[in-house]
Amino acid sequence: MALDSKIPKGPIKDKWTDYKNHINLVNPANKRHIDVIVVGTGLAGGSASATLAELGYNVKAFAYQDSPRRAHSIAAQGGINAAKNYQGDGDSTYRLFYDTVKGGDYRSREANVYRLAEVSANIIDQCVAQGVPFARDYGGLLDNRSFGGVLVSRTFYAKGQTGQQLLLGAYSAMNRQIARGKIEMFNRHEMLDVVVVDGKARGIIARNLVTGEIERHSAHAVVIASGGYGNVYFLSTNAMGSNVTAGWKVHKKGAYFANPCYKQIHPTCIPRSGDYQSKLTLMSESLRNDGRIWVPKNLEDVKAIREGSKKPTELTEDQRDYYLERRYPAFGNLVPRDVASRAAKERCDAGYGVNATGEAVYLDFAASFERYGKEQAKIQNISNPSEAKIKELGQEIVKAKYGNLFQMYEKIVDENPYETPMMIYPAVHYTMGGVWVDYNLMTTIPGCYAIGEANFSDHGANRLGASALMQGLADGYFVLPYTIGDYLADDIRTGKISTESSEFEAAEKEVTERIEFFINNEGTHSVDYYHKKLGKIMWDKCGMSRNAEGLEIAIEEISALRKDFWQHVNVPGTSTEYNEQLAKAGRVADFLELGELFAKDALVREESAGGHFREEHQTEDGEAKRIKEFQFVSAWEYKGEPKDAVLHKEELAYENIEVKERSYK
Ligand SMILES: Cc1cc2nc3c(=O)[nH]c(=O)nc-3n(C[C@H](O)[C@H](O)[C@H](O)COP(=O)(O)OP(=O)(O)OC[C@H]3O[C@@H](n4cnc5c(N)ncnc54)[C@H](O)[C@@H]3O)c2cc1C
Repeated sequence: MALDSKIPKGPIKDKWTDYKNHINLVNPANKRHIDVIVVGTGLAGGSASATLAELGYNVKAFAYQDSPRRAHSIAAQGGINAAKNYQGDGDSTYRLFYDTVKGGDYRSREANVYRLAEVSANIIDQCVAQGVPFARDYGGLLDNRSFGGVLVSRTFYAKGQTGQQLLLGAYSAMNRQIARGKIEMFNRHEMLDVVVVDGKARGIIARNLVTGEIERHSAHAVVIASGGYGNVYFLSTNAMGSNVTAGWKVHKKGAYFANPCYKQIHPTCIPRSGDYQSKLTLMSESLRNDGRIWVPKNLEDVKAIREGSKKPTELTEDQRDYYLERRYPAFGNLVPRDVASRAAKERCDAGYGVNATGEAVYLDFAASFERYGKEQAKIQNISNPSEAKIKELGQEIVKAKYGNLFQMYEKIVDENPYETPMMIYPAVHYTMGGVWVDYNLMTTIPGCYAIGEANFSDHGANRLGASALMQGLADGYFVLPYTIGDYLADDIRTGKISTESSEFEAAEKEVTERIEFFINNEGTHSVDYYHKKLGKIMWDKCGMSRNAEGLEIAIEEISALRKDFWQHVNVPGTSTEYNEQLAKAGRVADFLELGELFAKDALVREESAGGHFREEHQTEDGEAKRIKEFQFVSAWEYKGEPKDAVLHKEELAYENIEVKERSYK
């Protein structure tokens, strides 16, 4: 099949406007004859459901949680980007576009990204109108902060709870439509297959997770907004329930999957504490606005800290290596996530990790306490403040900005981050790959769309911080509601789609048989046993460092593990009750297939990109050599020397990376 991205012709800045002016529309009276299924009610699916219903379509929305309010989007802490230029620091639509493409290692689809940057400002207006309590400055204007990989402040935030507040906004918009009967909400329902009739997506098979009933639901179009699949690694910053099933099922029915092997590795997570952990916790990237990242300069100090005979606070400035500030002076601690993650791993691999596992670096706020404290002392007219007073004043400012994150850290690590630096380490975070979509956000199955983190299109190999919320809401509020009309315009006379067809029958049968297998299989190992084993293979061989030999072994190991799973998995309970293990068995079965595709994709990509090093071969001195290849997918700005060469060249010099530059139209 030839992939057609359907990118409109014309200058990049005019594409979206021109396109909207010429696509098909469905008139308001006809929209009420059209049904749309939305799988997922996080920020992407919630905003899409509310907007499609507001436009007049009949929406059926599905979520496996007990309420849309509990979608994983609620976890988002740091903020949402928008090119508003409220700080007057030189931001623009173009700059947000440029930063996003560059941050994604030039693997994003540029036309989509430009559109994303264009509609970003509308998102903030929409959310403010809904009552989302974004942080404001002293004068009452919306406040901003910075995230990695950019030189402006364009991130809007609500303390460390931005996702939660945005989700409450989308949820209220949904509720208005639920009350009007325009959205039928199916909580605690899991989509287990998509139904394709005459080549078009016409419905889904869902399981009521409370009663176990298998249900058929039809519609004229199906939208997948099921979020990311970071949990293929077992340990990730994602919610425990996050999974690939919806995306994987549409893939198995013919939708292409793009870049499955790209994962975002987030640099600031609480380090793993041991083998019996089921979850990793993110510390928001916003902390890098005020926290400085370092490891000791000398290995003796590392040893003393690990043994507990020295505290990090006892090290003087010249005994510390602020390695990001040293390597990347222009961006300092706010380099993009992939760069920060690789640098932390490099330092820890070299033996400078500061905790017992050797996998931790410091994130230190002492300098900010002092800086803010001195400023506050001036503002409050306190002459000759003591060091303790300065620290106290500074801590109050930091607390106001990130108080809940500091509290969360203390609860998990049992150390007070106001008194000792936080410890952080990279962890699996955002899903860069996903279901392939065209400019309309349609997959290769006509009538089946994918939005938000579930699709692949906007962030390339590495997403810049605060851009996922922006993309989910752009897709749901401002892009899909237009593009889906172009397709649905042909369906105004189709009438209700029957669920009594052989296609629904066959899909339901397959789903039922799989559930019966799990319940009846008298296996010996729990679902988690397999999930954990898969996660270990993924992290060890398809994680930050990859090489051909390891990936080939991973493919064999995953395949063997999958065979074992289908023979020996044990699922307790019945299929007619709320059975979390049963639901998880289906999700892990899909992870076991995705994992293999993931490794195969990584194997054929002889490149380093985003958070992944491709180690090509052993050099004479035994060091693995890393290859980095820049792709300029379309040369929208490439005239000889790329503008971003500064950051990448500095980085390459430190990482012993061989650069192969390629440019093609
Ligand atoms: C800890 C953390 C912090 C983050 N902080 C930020 C931040 O500050 N800024 C930022 O921009 N991004 C942040 N992100 C990323 C961002 O939160 C997510 O990318 C984004 O919220 C995903 O939204 P979504 O709507 O695509 O998916 P989700 O919010 O994950 O929603 C998925 C929905 O799909 C449903 N679903 C899934 N599968 C099925 C199925 N088979 N059947 C039925 N329903 C299904 C779920 O029930 C849910 O409703 C953060 C991520 C994490 C993990």
